[in-house]
Amino acid sequence: MDKILTDINKNEVLKYLGYKGGKIDEVTDKMISDAMANVLETAVPRYTYKVFDIEKENGILLNGTTFMPQGKDIAELLCSCEKCVMMAATLGIEFETMLRKAQIKDMAQAVILDSCGSSGVENICNNIEKIIEEQWVHKGWFLTDRFSPGYGDMPIEQQRDFCMVLDTAKKCGINVNGGGMLVPSKSVTAIIGLSKTEVTKRKKGCEYCNNFMNCQFRRDGITCD
Ligand code: SF4
Repeated sequence: MDKILTDINKNEVLKYLGYKGGKIDEVTDKMISDAMANVLETAVPRYTYKVFDIEKENGILLNGTTFMPQGKDIAELLCSCEKCVMMAATLGIEFETMLRKAQIKDMAQAVILDSCGSSGVENICNNIEKIIEEQWVHKGWFLTDRFSPGYGDMPIEQQRDFCMVLDTAKKCGINVNGGGMLVPSKSVTAIIGLSKTEVTKRKKGCEYCNNFMNCQFRRDGITCD
C-alpha cells in the first residue's frame, strides 16, 4: 500500500459532529467537503508497528519488553492470542499546525477540521490493519479488534510505556505530554492480537452502513443492534 491515508469517511465526520440525520445545509456541506480535501492534501501521516510474542504467566507480558497491558478487557481480547501487534499512527504535525491556525481564525472550521482529523487517523489505522492482515492471515492467523490504552479498563497511564516500547518519538514523531495525552493530538496507539483460532470481531459502526443518512434508529438516538 503506497499511501497510508486514503480516505476521510464523511459519515464518520458527521457522526463526530453530532449529526443525527436529515438534510445538511449547503454551506456546512461545502465546509465539510473542503475540510476533508484539506486534510488529505496537508497531512503527512506516519506510523510504526511491531509484532511481539505474548507470555502469559502472571498476566500478559510482551516478550523482550517489560510492558504488561493491564486490565480484564485486554486480557480477554488476547486470551486466545500467542502474539500481538503494537501499533502507533499519527496524522502528523502538519495537520496539527493547520488545526491550531483554524482554532484562532475560525472556530466552526476548526471543529469540522478536528472531526475530519479524527476520521483521517482512523483511516490510517484501518489501512495499517489491512497491511498486517495481508502479512498474517495467509499464514493461518486471525486478527482481533484494535484496543488502545484508555479503552475499557486499560489505564490511559500505560500510554507512556506503550510509546517507549515502540519508540514512537523516533519512529513516527508521537510523544506523550505531561497529562498523558498523545502529541500530535490526532494520534492513536493500539494493540491487535494475533490468534491461531478464529476470533469474533466487533460489528462495524453506523458510519459504514448504507442507511447512515436516513436511519430512523439514529434519529431516535438508538441503534439497530
Ligand atoms: S441501520 Fe443500524 S447500523 Fe445502519 S445507520 Fe441505522 S442504526 Fe446504524
